[in-house]
Amino acid sequence: MVPNRLLVPVVVLACAAPAGAQVPAEYQRLDREVILKRLHTVVRGDQARLAKLKELFERAGCRGEQLTEQPVPELELPNLVCRLPGEAGGIIVVGAHYGAHPAGDGAVDNWSGAALLPSLYQSLRGRSRRHTFLFVGFAGGEPKHRGSKTFARSLRKRDIRAMINLESIGMVRPLAWDYSNERRLARYLNRVSRTSMLPVDVMPPEKLGKTDAQAFARRGIPALTIHSVSPSNYMIRRDERDIVEAIRENEYYETYALAAAYLAYLDANLP
Ligand SMILES: [Zn+2]
Repeated sequence: MVPNRLLVPVVVLACAAPAGAQVPAEYQRLDREVILKRLHTVVRGDQARLAKLKELFERAGCRGEQLTEQPVPELELPNLVCRLPGEAGGIIVVGAHYGAHPAGDGAVDNWSGAALLPSLYQSLRGRSRRHTFLFVGFAGGEPKHRGSKTFARSLRKRDIRAMINLESIGMVRPLAWDYSNERRLARYLNRVSRTSMLPVDVMPPEKLGKTDAQAFARRGIPALTIHSVSPSNYMIRRDERDIVEAIRENEYYETYALAAAYLAYLDANLP
């Protein structure tokens, strides 16, 4: 699609890093056109969505043995896992379900999240990393979240430093639910938001907040969902209004930029 050399310059967040940060938090910020073009690749049908997600990962540079499938019990389609190796032992999981509700196009819920996974991978791959990142497109989705449950169960808890989930983003400016007790992921996200001047509202999970992050939170893994779901737009995701036009381009791109900066920051600052 777009080679790295055409990307806009690296944004450096090192000035915001607290004492103890081991490497500068840097990422390559992809161009807005690339991010929006990938959003517009949305297709109906989970089989086609899986194939499209795989294609996006491969074009972003994740292929061969770094791109694998994980079977999910009771589902025909697998989780799709892109691995970006790091130098130390810890793992950061970045997830979004690609499976869609049959009404609408499933653009908001959750192609908006799944289509960002290859871009986030691409934003981080050009620099050395402490953590190994696993970018996972989860099969299924609401209400059973089978893909994320299967994936969360397959991990050794002690290896996982955080799980960041992307769910129905871009309808409004970014919101976040932090499922952990210690709130460190929320504090870090607020810090990145202030530094990069990309606004976000972090709050405790509401009843609207059943997401793929919870399978990880239940295992005691710090987990946070970035989303754009509010009481006024919640039902868009359940009917024919779930089309790409329900997503605001500026908010979508800013959510991408915030997520990319956040992942770079987590890599520099999580143990
Ligand atoms: Zn969803």
